[in-house]
Amino acid sequence: MKNNRNRRAGSYSRRHVLQLLAGTACACCGSVHANKLAYDLTATEIASGTWAVHGRSEYFTLENGGNIVNVAFIEVPDGVVVVDSGPSRRYGEALLQLIEKTVPGKPVLRVYNTHHHPDHFLGNQVFDRTVIAAPQQVIDNILAEGDGFADNMYRLVGDWMRGTAPIAPGLALEGDSEEIGGRKFSLFYLSGHTSSDLVIRDDQTGVLFSGDLAFYNRAPTTPHAQIEVWQESLQTISALDRELILPGHGLRDDSGASIEQTADYLDWLHRGLSEAAASGLTMNEAMALPVPARFQSIDVVQTEYQRSVVHMYLTLEDDLMPLIDVK
Ligand SMILES: [Zn+2]
Repeated sequence: MKNNRNRRAGSYSRRHVLQLLAGTACACCGSVHANKLAYDLTATEIASGTWAVHGRSEYFTLENGGNIVNVAFIEVPDGVVVVDSGPSRRYGEALLQLIEKTVPGKPVLRVYNTHHHPDHFLGNQVFDRTVIAAPQQVIDNILAEGDGFADNMYRLVGDWMRGTAPIAPGLALEGDSEEIGGRKFSLFYLSGHTSSDLVIRDDQTGVLFSGDLAFYNRAPTTPHAQIEVWQESLQTISALDRELILPGHGLRDDSGASIEQTADYLDWLHRGLSEAAASGLTMNEAMALPVPARFQSIDVVQTEYQRSVVHMYLTLEDDLMPLIDVK
């Protein structure tokens, strides 16, 4: 199985590399110039021994290389725990270098994947697969959709993805907590952003890693969303003891505002699109509806809103207007 996956991953990797090299051939001499792409990752200490690696508040571009996600690492007594691994192999390598520079000589004992979206797990390749862990459903989602996600990322960010292949975690999480290297982490098995979203709490510092169940000042993404389930998960998170939240995208959150903002946005999105579908607006007309003033300062809100209309509108129309069975 593993060999099969590696072979497949290798084959599209070579195909993409060839396409990318073709695109960078010099018009005058025909020689090929390799791009020198480097992620400029910075570790920001958000709690004692806990560093966030903030991504840009953007969508995937050829310029940002998919570095739009918040990754984190935590120094525990015997090593390092990592939350999400970034969008590419190259990112994973840069992350490992940053960890080694920040916490020299300590081994990575655990890598959590919060969910199966590509910016959260395509850096897995640089870690020992046996220390990468996620709920079984996240693993299943990666096995089912990882190839397609990686393929799409090659199209979106190009050469940054060179050599990247989707690697599923080697360990399925089960318990409600685990001790890693002398530190206890609580695990919460939620869903709604996708069919499986892992939330992790470092019980010593109280930092809650929400994955993409919470966004803060960066518009939520909805390609696999089930809005009602997502809202229930936000209520669960809201009731958890914590000191601060590191959302999957956007700013760190000391007050819980990321939960309120995400819930408010999803409520507006779902209600607004349901009303639009019920009143017979076309998808294009729904896309042209104004985003409320309170959301307009949120990064990439206009483009994410339009992407959400594409993801959600046909389903909403089908739910609201079932086919009439004429006999
Ligand atoms: Zn996501």
